[in-house]
Amino acid sequence: MTHRILIVEDEPSIAELIAINLTHAGYEVEKALQTDVAISMMREQLPNLLILDWMLPGKSGVQFAKELRANERTRALPILMLTAKSEESDKVMGLDSGADDYVTKPFSTKELVARVKALLRRQTPLEETGPLTVGPLRLDPISHRITVVWPNVEPRALSLGPTEYRLLQFLMANPERVHSRANLLDKVWGNEVYIEERTVDVHIKRLRAALAISDCERYIETVRGSGYRITKIPTQT
Ligand code: CA
Repeated sequence: MTHRILIVEDEPSIAELIAINLTHAGYEVEKALQTDVAISMMREQLPNLLILDWMLPGKSGVQFAKELRANERTRALPILMLTAKSEESDKVMGLDSGADDYVTKPFSTKELVARVKALLRRQTPLEETGPLTVGPLRLDPISHRITVVWPNVEPRALSLGPTEYRLLQFLMANPERVHSRANLLDKVWGNEVYIEERTVDVHIKRLRAALAISDCERYIETVRGSGYRITKIPTQT
């Protein structure tokens, strides 16, 4: 299957450079110079991945990513953000907005293509599991649905971005065990040389924020100096 990638970038030369390299790598590529064009293109058909520039005229990439994450239809769309900002706080802000990964300008096209590949690979399902249960959390790998079931409360569906879903699925399939950041990168992200361990913390934070809505963020524990685990019996905090 050929993956379709939509590039939202207002600098035509950069958009073209990316498009050429991705086409060479075997992808179908579309370009939009701004977000409203991207929106109408996505109304027709959703791409498999979005490359989104941070600095755009009108709506910023960060704002657009937030809107895509808040929308049921585009919630699980993988987003790779392009940013000229290399400050650590900006990187975290980019990821917090809902991007799955980011590349800092000026980037090497080789690195960009590698990250696109890695992000698409992350879409392929983890090892097959049956439905998973940890505490009030239920994960159905067939429908990709996560439901929170508390006694005497109407079950509530949880919506997660693609990376958080995968992270939660891996943790739930391997409960009560501490997973180091390196191990999580290996199992959840795959063999991606470009991803920093700090990225794991950012996604754990996003996962916890999503779980907090249904009051179950404490099921994911930080084990100081070691990593993270999901547990059926959280330490009360
Ligand atoms: Ca720009």
